[in-house]
Amino acid sequence: MHDGRELELNVVALPSEQSEDPRIALLRLERRVERERRARLEAEAIAEGGTRALHEKQRQLKLLQTIATAANESSSIADTLRFALKEICAFAGWSLGHVYEVSRGDHELLPTAIWHAADEAMAGVFRDATLLTPLPRGVGLPGRVLATGAPAWLTDVTDATNFPRAQVAAASGLRAGFAFPVMVGREVAAVMEFFTSETREPDNALLALMAQIGTQLGRVIERKRAEERLVHDASHDPLTGLPNRALLLDRLNYAIARRRRDEDFQFALLFVDLDRFKLVNDSLGHAAGDVLLIEVGRRLQAALRQEDLAARPVAGAASSPHTLARLGGDEFIVLIEELAHPSDAVRIGERLIETLARPITVDGQEVYATASVGVATSTAEHAAAEDILRDADLAMYRAKSSGRGRIEIYDHGLHEVAISRLKLESDIRRAVREHEFTLHYQPIVALESREVVGFEALVRWQRSPQELVYPDRFIAVAEETGLIVFIGLWVLREACRTAARWQRAFPRPQPLTMSINLSPRQFQQPDLVEQVRAIVTEAGVAPETVHLEVTEGVTIDDPERTIRIIEELRAFGVGVGIDDFGTGYSSLSYIHRLPLDVLKIDRSFVLGMDASGEGRQIVRTIMDLAQNLDIDVIAEGAEQASHVDQLQAMGCHFGQGYFFSRPVEAAAAEALLAQGPFK
Ligand code: C2E
Ligand code: CA
Ligand code: CA
Repeated sequence: MHDGRELELNVVALPSEQSEDPRIALLRLERRVERERRARLEAEAIAEGGTRALHEKQRQLKLLQTIATAANESSSIADTLRFALKEICAFAGWSLGHVYEVSRGDHELLPTAIWHAADEAMAGVFRDATLLTPLPRGVGLPGRVLATGAPAWLTDVTDATNFPRAQVAAASGLRAGFAFPVMVGREVAAVMEFFTSETREPDNALLALMAQIGTQLGRVIERKRAEERLVHDASHDPLTGLPNRALLLDRLNYAIARRRRDEDFQFALLFVDLDRFKLVNDSLGHAAGDVLLIEVGRRLQAALRQEDLAARPVAGAASSPHTLARLGGDEFIVLIEELAHPSDAVRIGERLIETLARPITVDGQEVYATASVGVATSTAEHAAAEDILRDADLAMYRAKSSGRGRIEIYDHGLHEVAISRLKLESDIRRAVREHEFTLHYQPIVALESREVVGFEALVRWQRSPQELVYPDRFIAVAEETGLIVFIGLWVLREACRTAARWQRAFPRPQPLTMSINLSPRQFQQPDLVEQVRAIVTEAGVAPETVHLEVTEGVTIDDPERTIRIIEELRAFGVGVGIDDFGTGYSSLSYIHRLPLDVLKIDRSFVLGMDASGEGRQIVRTIMDLAQNLDIDVIAEGAEQASHVDQLQAMGCHFGQGYFFSRPVEAAAAEALLAQGPFK
């Protein structure tokens, strides 16, 4: 009966019982397995408590091991931390985890994009709030961890006293939370926080485990830092710590490649060379020269950081689009990526020259480290990094030879437009510095009495003794570059002084008013209200006689802020009006909410009254709206007697336009006042 197959089974299963009937052998085997299983169950039942602890210990070890393995295999700290968040959430049954980074100087925790959420919907709002809330040392659950270097627990975040995000946590259905530090030696390198949707009492075993994980993750960071230090040393200048030539060329090549793919991407290279550096080195010695170079590097970097802040006010977010490198000697290079306009390169160059204008103290001596700057911008013709570097170098030499402390542009690649715009921009800059602006005044007339009730101040630029430039040629560029803020402050001051003077010279029962244009950029200044207050007060003019004109575009951007600013201005006393009304896109319902004194009907509508019934209709609609809201209306662009008649017929009380007078110099405006009402 022994066939081959059974024999084989015998051989495999029971080699020592070859002679036995295989079926009996099988039965015996089954019984044995069953016996062992029962014994095991019994043993487990007896030692259940101990086993559970053992089991728990095993889970803990497994967690530590999983995270350790991931840490060893991953090449990124962020990935490792993200993985750890996920594993810890799964392990402990918590729903949400997030990692804070510790700011430079250790005083603050910065939120990061390293998150894990079991439930996205739940995480959303809380994550948004977290991303907006950096926590100072000691503040909030994670802030306490930073301060103490130890894990912390909140049974219920919604009634914790020191938890800034309590409200939004409650709104997101989060209750218990804990956090622990990621330690590198004794330093807290990051803080991990976790939340879940029910309250939980502190779990010391869990916190002890987390402390271990914190140390483990710290090793990853430590290792990574050591690697980075090696890479850093190979690519940085040991004296200043700035990127060296190799790293610069690397980034430049990358920019060139990107430019090839993307026409819109622009970059510029600034070659910054110190004037008279050799003199310092020769007279004060190399050590002094080193001190100077370090300080120059520091100042250039600080100036570029200012640029970053101006360009992207949300701090800490993206990395800087500028690379400041030291080529050796006294040569520094700035690579500016993501250039909005070639002229930005010039502006940045000027800022760099400016920042070096203050003397630097070396060995107790004041040294002036002025610099010359050459600019080359990205163009299609540039094949290689070295070419651009050469162009910037050439431009720098030209800057040096045409007088030190200057900036020159390698203009081969610059388009005509860019050049003339650059020139315009630097001319406006000079105009601001040298006070080349002047004001013209255009009377605002009461249509009934034909009496001058006030003036609008309109800025002009006396570019040269022969050339008077009108605002349409320079306001837009001034606005783009931010120079308008300086111009605007000057206009405000000058116009207020003039108003005070005229009010004294031409006293009226209703004092003369002065209307002043505020540009959008000016309106966005955080200290606008204080500035206005200071200038008006200093000029000694009654606030009620100063009227500020803003355009509709300004008001629509951030309605709540707009309303607040206008209210603050009016609380001080100055009037606020909407300029060019009807040309923007403010909805009528929105205008309704603004606390306004005046609407100025745009001149195009007034001029349009001749041509069509439609033109008249628009003016009439605006008049109705203003009457409903009890706001004064000034009609601009009244050029003909017929305009004035029609406006009057529609119930408009004030007009401004060539029919009465063009904008004129102060002396001519005074003559108008002296001469009495228009006939
Ligand atoms: P705006 O505020 O609408 O100023 C009125 C403009 O209309 C002035 O041009 C004025 O000369 C012109 N105008 C006055 N009456 C008539 C008329 O009967 N017919 C016609 N066709 N035009 C008339 P201007 O002085 O060239 O100013 C142009 C714009 O420049 C101003 O428009 C204003 O938006 C801006 N601007 C002027 N001065 C300043 C200033 O100090 N700061 C700011 N931010 N912007 C200013
Ligand atoms: Ca105006
Ligand atoms: Ca206007």
